[in-house]
Amino acid sequence: MDSALLVPLALGFGAIVGGGIVSLLVVAARRGRRAAEVISTAVPDGVDQVIDALESAGVVIDPSNNVVKASPGAFAFGLVWNQALVHPELVKLVDKVRRNGAPITKELELSRGPFGDANIYLFVRVARLGARYILLLAEDRTEGYRLDAVRRDFVANISHELKTPIGAVSLLAEALQAASDEPDQVKRFAKRLTKESERLARITQEIIELSRLQAADALAKPEIVKIDQVVAAAIDQNRVAADSHKISLVSGGRSTAEVYGDEALLGVAVHNLISNAIQYSPKGSRVGIGVSNSDGVVEIAVTDQGIGIPDDDLDRVFERFYRIDQARSRHTGGSGLGLSIVKHVVQNHGGDIRVWSQPGRGSTFTIRLPEASQVSAASLKEA
Ligand code: ADP
Repeated sequence: MDSALLVPLALGFGAIVGGGIVSLLVVAARRGRRAAEVISTAVPDGVDQVIDALESAGVVIDPSNNVVKASPGAFAFGLVWNQALVHPELVKLVDKVRRNGAPITKELELSRGPFGDANIYLFVRVARLGARYILLLAEDRTEGYRLDAVRRDFVANISHELKTPIGAVSLLAEALQAASDEPDQVKRFAKRLTKESERLARITQEIIELSRLQAADALAKPEIVKIDQVVAAAIDQNRVAADSHKISLVSGGRSTAEVYGDEALLGVAVHNLISNAIQYSPKGSRVGIGVSNSDGVVEIAVTDQGIGIPDDDLDRVFERFYRIDQARSRHTGGSGLGLSIVKHVVQNHGGDIRVWSQPGRGSTFTIRLPEASQVSAASLKEA
């Protein structure tokens, strides 16, 4: 072939092949972009920022139920794990909204996280977000539920605790009436009547104290309280009981420590510890009360050589109405409220209470309170 003809032919062929390849590439790129749009997990504009700003749980779910966006709260509540919703209950709600379109609001009790024992109560809202996504919002209501349960328990316990002495009082009154001609019987029933009414008065007083402590902040008007004075007064109040149980009260360690707070309430707390130490100790034993302070912490320790507390009960003795030996406690007139009052008083004063105990060896209850420093004491006086 003529070489002059060969050159333009080759050029033309090259242009056709090149053009074909370029247009193939352009088509492929367009298809690729469209495909990328279909599988893109991008969340609609603005939703990202809203979810990030949420304090509660917010989750965006795509059509395959993958989590494409979740707020830190959603992870903290244990709702999301491996880019999926942990709880089948939530997945069901999401599917339902996707099918029906209508938003759903529901209260749910769910396990906290994929393997946790604890439960969490959530107020959940699920709604469509644009055409493709589902938005799930959840608020934590666990604390509210817990408080409700505590209140229900408390009311049930109070009713039970009050019913027993009230029942006894009315039975004894009937017995008194029937035995009005027998002076000995009258004396016996009257004595028991006095005991039951004292018990009733004590429970009522303790319930009032406890409600007062829970309702108000004991440190709303804090005063400087001398700890030595509180301890000495509490020992004095328990002297008669100690003498009648033949128990010696030994106080050790003088201290000039002062704390901010309510002297009367702190007095009740120390009194309750000493009174328990006497109640749960054998005749002839000793109860020690020590005060110490170091590094800004004031410690009041009450030690006895009594019956002690089994390991399993140690955590529970501070619960309201908790008594290890119901029968014995009823006999001693205990209401099971004493230690929970101590715990509340101490917590209201920014402190804590610890217990060491061994059955048969005795117990030590230690109250720890933050010491009022001299600087802040001066500023309190000026104020
Ligand atoms: P109570 O009025 O029954 O004494 P508390 O709340 O003061 O109620 O105490 C709860 C329970 O803890 C008591 O019933 C008793 O079983 C146990 N307990 C408290 N203090 C002592 C102690 N010092 N030694 C042994 N057991 C104690």
